[in-house]
Amino acid sequence: MQGKIIIFSAPSGAGKTTIVKHLLQVNPKLAFSISACTRDKRGRTEENGKDYYFITPEDFKQKIEADEFVEWEEVYEGAFYGTLKSEIERIWKSGKHAILDVDVKGGLSIKHFYKERALAVFVKPPSVEELAKRLTARATDSASSISSRVFKAEFEMKFEDQFDEVIVNDNLQDACAKAEKLVEEFLNAEPAIV
Ligand code: ADP
Ligand code: 5GP
Repeated sequence: MQGKIIIFSAPSGAGKTTIVKHLLQVNPKLAFSISACTRDKRGRTEENGKDYYFITPEDFKQKIEADEFVEWEEVYEGAFYGTLKSEIERIWKSGKHAILDVDVKGGLSIKHFYKERALAVFVKPPSVEELAKRLTARATDSASSISSRVFKAEFEMKFEDQFDEVIVNDNLQDACAKAEKLVEEFLNAEPAIV
C-alpha cells in the first residue's frame, strides 16, 4: 500500500480538530500526524507524544538545521510548529495514511511537498463572528490570544481557493459527513504516481 496524506487546515476555531478527531474515530486506515511544537502543554488536557511532541526552542532549531521538517512555522509569536518527515514515515510504515491538522500556510506547504499524494482540505467557518464565538466558548485561550487568532483568520480566509476541497463547518454533522466522503474517495482513488 502506498501511504497518502490528508491535510485539514483552517483558521483557528473553525472546527478542524473536531472534524479530524471524528475521522480518526470512524476510519481505522487513518493515523494522526503529531507535530512538534514549542508552546507550553495545555494543563491536563494534552499529552506529549499524543497531541504534540512538546520540545524546546533549542531542539526545534536543531531540527530545522538538520532538515528534519517537511515544513515549520512560527504560527503565533514565539510559538513554533512543524511537521516532521520522520512522523509521516512512521505512519506509512505502520500501514496507515497520515491525517494532519495544521494552519493554512503550513497546509499549502505540505500539499506542495507531497503533491498528488496529498489531499488538502480547507475548513471554513460560517463567518468570522461565529469563529470568535467558538473560540470564546472553547475557553482554551486568553482574550489576547483569541483576538490574534481572529485577526489571523481574516487573512487566512483568502487562501481557500488554493485548496483541493472546501468544507463549510456550519452544521457539524453535515461537515463530518462531507469530510468522511471526501477522504474515502481520495483513499480509494488510484495510487498517486510520484
Ligand atoms: P480548530 O481546531 O479549527 O481550532 P476546534 O475543532 O477546536 O477548532 O473547534 C473550535 C470550537 O468550536 C470547539 O469548542 C468545538 O467544539 C466547536 N465547534 C466545532 N464545530 C462546530 C460547529 N459546527 N458548530 C458549533 N461549534 C463547533
Ligand atoms: P494550537 O496551539 O491551538 O494547538 O494550534 C495552533 C495552530 O497551529 C493550529 O492552527 C494548528 O493547526 C497549527 N499547527 C499544528 N501543527 C502544525 C504544524 O506542524 N505546522 C503548522 N504550520 N501548523 C501547525
